[in-house]
Amino acid sequence: MHKTRSANPALPMLPRELEGLAEISLNLWWTWNPPGKNLFRQVNPFLWKESGHNPIEMLGQMSAEEFDALLKSEHFMNEYRYVYALFRRYMDVESCRIERDILPVAYFCAEFGLHHSLPIYSGGLGFLAGDILKESSDMGLPMIGVGFMYPQGYVRQIIGSDGWQNGANEPIDRDTAPIERVLDKNGEHFTIKVPFIDPPIYAAVWKINIGRVKLYLLDTDIDKNDPWDRLISSRLYTPDKHQRLRQQIVLGIGGYRMLEELGIKYSILHLNEGHPAFALFERVREFMQSDGMSLSEAVQRVRKTSVFTTHTPLQAGTDVYDFNMMSEMFSEYWERLGMSKELFLGYGMNPDDPSSGFNMTVFGMKMCGYRNAVSRKHAKVAADIWKSLFPDTPKKKIPIEYITNGIHIPTWMGDGLRARVDEVLGEGWIDMQQIGDIWRRVEDLDAQEIWKIHYDYKVRLVNFIRERVRKRWSEESIDPMVGMAEGVMLDPDVLTIGFARRMTSYKRPSLILRDLDRLEKIVNDKARPVQIVFAGKAHPADIPGKKILQEIFKVCSDSRFRGRLAFVEDYGEEAAKYLVRGVDVWLNNPTIPMEACGTSGMKASVNGTLHLSVSDGWWDEAYNGKNGWSFGEKVSNDEKDADALYDIIEKEIVPLYYDRGHSSLPMGWIEMMKEAMVSITPAFSARRMMGEYMSKFYIPITECCREEK
Ligand SMILES: *Cc1c(COP(=O)(O)O)cnc(C)c1O
Repeated sequence: MHKTRSANPALPMLPRELEGLAEISLNLWWTWNPPGKNLFRQVNPFLWKESGHNPIEMLGQMSAEEFDALLKSEHFMNEYRYVYALFRRYMDVESCRIERDILPVAYFCAEFGLHHSLPIYSGGLGFLAGDILKESSDMGLPMIGVGFMYPQGYVRQIIGSDGWQNGANEPIDRDTAPIERVLDKNGEHFTIKVPFIDPPIYAAVWKINIGRVKLYLLDTDIDKNDPWDRLISSRLYTPDKHQRLRQQIVLGIGGYRMLEELGIKYSILHLNEGHPAFALFERVREFMQSDGMSLSEAVQRVRKTSVFTTHTPLQAGTDVYDFNMMSEMFSEYWERLGMSKELFLGYGMNPDDPSSGFNMTVFGMKMCGYRNAVSRKHAKVAADIWKSLFPDTPKKKIPIEYITNGIHIPTWMGDGLRARVDEVLGEGWIDMQQIGDIWRRVEDLDAQEIWKIHYDYKVRLVNFIRERVRKRWSEESIDPMVGMAEGVMLDPDVLTIGFARRMTSYKRPSLILRDLDRLEKIVNDKARPVQIVFAGKAHPADIPGKKILQEIFKVCSDSRFRGRLAFVEDYGEEAAKYLVRGVDVWLNNPTIPMEACGTSGMKASVNGTLHLSVSDGWWDEAYNGKNGWSFGEKVSNDEKDADALYDIIEKEIVPLYYDRGHSSLPMGWIEMMKEAMVSITPAFSARRMMGEYMSKFYIPITECCREEK
């Protein structure tokens, strides 16, 4: 107990009988287990909301009298003991049912999406990484996460009355966030030095408990660094090339050193996207230094034990550093490796564009023997754009596997629905969730009941949106127009389409606004109206993205749409949860083939929100004709795609939604909701995905390492 308290100064001294609350608050387990959430809500419902669902902040604001009152409440204490027992049972590795015989995996990623109290993510890549850690915890896989602490957080989106996104940063309060300082022997904050970089860069280490899995974060914002270096980890994906390179050196090489120096044992290195790929060089160096291998032995060893996941569908989407910049940073480093400059830089040279510089994805692909794309369709695209990396291999045999992304079901399925699923499928369903057949039982759920659960989510979404506007209005008395554009007039009885994703050109956020007259007819139909809710942040440096957002915002504030179009500010993990459950239709219309996979549509579908999408990414393999809609050209064409979108809304979606028989329920719609849940939940669960990472990569690597011993 003393240890946790000193590691997180904001936690108050708790009465002995409630000490377990500290332990639970410092482990994100509670975020995906409804009894954990409910327990904290019961502690103090008002502070729970005020703290933004951050138990550490909430507990820190409570008085001794309030704790006394909890101790006296028999109901609360029973609940507390029950939840603490659940938590301990979960954490007890001995009782963990799914023992997996694989070597430990270190999973590196530039961002992790875990919970809204930790703004260290920008989008899909981060949520995939977060879901992988949560699922690994549930499955009992030996996984360690490595990432970056971004003390400035990601942008908090504030939209002006002109529709322009003004970003304010959302700094992380390191004391009240659910993170712990890693301490060294002397009780000081543990710090590493990135080797061979002059002047040296230091990074302090933080730890996040994600159930049984630990995630370590590097933080360069410490006194030991010069001011320039302190800023290295200040922000996600800085556009400044030089700073970005330093970021990736700290993440890859620094992250690798950190694991070594903490004495954390693992054997498989998994790189999620190119950002942390420099870890591969450090791994070569470590094998040479500690195991006495030659350079070529070490490179072979790294190849046989490292996994690279690519997410980009275009060569232009990868990080490339010019050779001069690389030489400035790495000349001492390649000497230590016993490599020539040509050999070292050659690892990142793109055969299609050799003079462009050091390409992080090319490097990852060359140095890792196990590679994957993130959907079936993306694997074809990846094989095509990277074929020259495998000059002796026929196109059909390019060694890039595909493992389609999945989502962590307990995180994304709403609690109300989850409670019914618990009853229908029985207690142990979490451990069988990837088995399609068990989900057929959901078909027996009563239509009325499904509709009620869904309708409740719609009401909650509308309330959430209004509450946000109310808060902004009271804090900074915004222009009433802004309040209207942000959704105060939404109506839970109206068919609602949601479009929420990063505001960037390739996702075509304004496609549905292409013909405003036609859209007006759809939206304002008297008997069968339609609402559209938009949300999403533009990267602070993405001017075209900000312009699209402004265009959308202007349409939302146009009175001809009668408040039925809305833009919800500050899309993040919390807003996403309300949106994926609370709209009726989830729209996805990227330019094909730019969406390598996409995951928000999965989050919608498992909650019975129907997916309306072009045939890209995961939808290309998920759509079965009954579980949502597919529209648009094979080769994207804005005009034709917009027409197809209006057609399908007018001819199929609106009639089906408003077709109410004598029961006043949309029976055809509810059938589709069931089909979406039944067909998509098992197949696009993180459980299925991790099973594939195991069978395709982790188990073969483990077996190969055993044989060699
Ligand atoms: C799931 C998620 C994403 C990724 O969604 P895409 O479908 O890949 O665009 C982005 N942001 C948040 C907050 C999410 O929850």
